[in-house]
Amino acid sequence: MNVLDRPVESLNGVGKARQAQLKKLGISSVRDLIKYYPRAYENRGDVKLLSEASFEESNSFLLVVATSVRTANIRKGLSISKFRAFDESGTVEVVFFNSPFVKDVFTVGAQFRFYGKISLTKNLLQLNSPKYEPYIEGKPLLDFVPVYPLTEGISSKFLEKLISSVIDEAATSVVDFLPEKLRLENSLSALSYAIRNVHFPTDEDALSRSIRRLAFDEMFIFGMAIALNSQYQKRSDGIKFAPCDIKPFLNLLPYELTDSQKKAVNDIYKDTVLTSMEAPKAMSRIIVGDVGSGKTVLSAIAMYICAKSGYQATLMAPTEILARQHYQELSGIYSKLGISCELLCGNTSAKEKTRIYQDASQGKIDVIVGTHALISDNLCFHNLGLVVTDEQHRFGVAQRAKLKDKSRSAHLLVMSATPIPRTLALTMYGDLDVSRLTEMPKGRQRVDTFVVDEGYRARINEFIKKQVMLGGQCYIVCPSIERSEDGAECYDALTITQSARRKPLNLKNAVEYAETLKAVLPECNIACLHGKMKAKEKDSIMSSFAKGEIDVIVSTTVIEVGVNVPNATLMIVENAERFGLSSLHQLRGRVGRGQKKSYCILVSDKNFGNAYERLEVMRTVYDGFEIAERDLLIRGPGDFFSRNSDNNLRQSGGFRFDFASMCDDSQLMELAFSSAKKVIAGDRYLENKDNYLLKKRLEEVIYVNQSNIS
Ligand code: ADP
Ligand code: MG
Repeated sequence: MNVLDRPVESLNGVGKARQAQLKKLGISSVRDLIKYYPRAYENRGDVKLLSEASFEESNSFLLVVATSVRTANIRKGLSISKFRAFDESGTVEVVFFNSPFVKDVFTVGAQFRFYGKISLTKNLLQLNSPKYEPYIEGKPLLDFVPVYPLTEGISSKFLEKLISSVIDEAATSVVDFLPEKLRLENSLSALSYAIRNVHFPTDEDALSRSIRRLAFDEMFIFGMAIALNSQYQKRSDGIKFAPCDIKPFLNLLPYELTDSQKKAVNDIYKDTVLTSMEAPKAMSRIIVGDVGSGKTVLSAIAMYICAKSGYQATLMAPTEILARQHYQELSGIYSKLGISCELLCGNTSAKEKTRIYQDASQGKIDVIVGTHALISDNLCFHNLGLVVTDEQHRFGVAQRAKLKDKSRSAHLLVMSATPIPRTLALTMYGDLDVSRLTEMPKGRQRVDTFVVDEGYRARINEFIKKQVMLGGQCYIVCPSIERSEDGAECYDALTITQSARRKPLNLKNAVEYAETLKAVLPECNIACLHGKMKAKEKDSIMSSFAKGEIDVIVSTTVIEVGVNVPNATLMIVENAERFGLSSLHQLRGRVGRGQKKSYCILVSDKNFGNAYERLEVMRTVYDGFEIAERDLLIRGPGDFFSRNSDNNLRQSGGFRFDFASMCDDSQLMELAFSSAKKVIAGDRYLENKDNYLLKKRLEEVIYVNQSNIS
């Protein structure tokens, strides 16, 4: 059997319990195991003397055990084990909690490499619960120790051991799917080298070369999907909608459309109604507009025209919160126009789903709004006429294609709020027709933006209070949900490849932060929202916020996409340096949607890498497209492949952007995309035997359907 196909339970150290735990991480075979990449690396190779230790961050030390371990039981459930250790520069007291077994590990005279943070207590250096490895002359230790994402019961150490036990054999068995010529042309390392070194890098250079190769792969596969997709989406025959008066719809809106909205409506009308009688072609249109430019109403009008013609329409949103919000807005208007509208999400009850499937197939529902649950094979339409996807490029093309395949002749309307830099637009949009929203609805104000550091904390809190007292509401966005599993600070892989950014992360986490803030601002009603909550919980918090019952919402980026609460006047982003500019722009777009003056505060350590330069862009530039261009220049394409678990690209698209998401090399992206185009241009159906492995690899992630390509 190929080693890659071996089940994990055949490996030493994996019993029934471990097998089940690994399964939770999506690991059943050696193949899965070696694709379980580290989320970070500890730089333990950089050994410091005790005298040069930093009190701020973890360091590596090479120490000799000086005294035997003494354990004291402080109280029930708490024991402390201590001993002293030294190097040529001094002595330190090493402390472990509830680990009496260490007395057998640390024998006097033995040498260990410790990794941890030093503190100074009563004039004595202390090293608390460090990680440790026996140091034996002639037996080198890893300089970069991988840190794996964890789950209950499985430690990073365990994964490290397990992976290292198979990596040699497994890495050599991996078949490189990139055609050799392409690989060499682009100076990419071999896949087996990359896989080995991304787990156990021999040095920094090996690590960055491995990351480069793996990032290229992700973007290349994505580029292949786009290239293939734009081929087989070449205009199928379309349905012709009946001429239709949209005034009754417009009359229900509390505002007038902007000129560019009107123009987009005209485009849609032309594509779907005025299309030529002899050969009507299906619409393939993307509406690109900055956050808040009013795209939703355009999809509503398109679906109205569709429904009036007796056809069904469907709108797919990337998150449940967004789908629900669209549904509420649309069903409010549609109910007055005699159009039936339903919501279908992953957590819709089984009974309700069955009913919706049945009603949809019988044509009893005009419009279905939902998440990627819409892709389910169980959902069949009676006569689907229009597919709308919101914030589309977060889905991955395969999904759009799948939804669209529910009716070959349905029209397609895509709405993109994340401005894509012009340099990438052509590649990403393929051959979609583009309608641009170039102006904001009237009365929209500029959101004043401030970049501040931790020193402003008290003033920030005062400002929150003031906004709430004035009747406004506030979003606070934090980059992570909870403390890292082991409570340790660590470097992420991005940081390690860029020495300039070598600082430990100190991420505000939403849960703890909300608690702290509740104590500081008792007069405000504060709630926490994060991606690990149940959908129901999230929805109920979001709708309380929309109703104004909650003043301040502390959240992870679940709110990033599309949420609309016009009464929100303050957006605070913690650890703003962690976000791409386009994400920050999206976040800022959540406020300033109503009449009230609104503000955005970016809290950041300005000394963190190029944070200052980047955040300065946010302070001075307000146009989403320009921000996207600058972001691409400064930071590279990583932002377009966000791997935030709250937006579902990774889980739902079949694509993985573990490495592309942290890639800061925009040339690499262009290389990957142009290579993909070149491959398809030379071998349209991937029939060439040099491309055989590539085709197989593609079929694992997308649905390459021959009949669709022609
Ligand atoms: P996005 O383009 O980011 O999806 P939305 O469609 O959510 O923006 O619109 C943002 C807000 O602007 C909504 O509250 C919507 O009702 C409002 N809006 C849309 N078009 C107009 C307009 N022409 N005039 C005033 N308000 C508008
Ligand atoms: Mg929107």
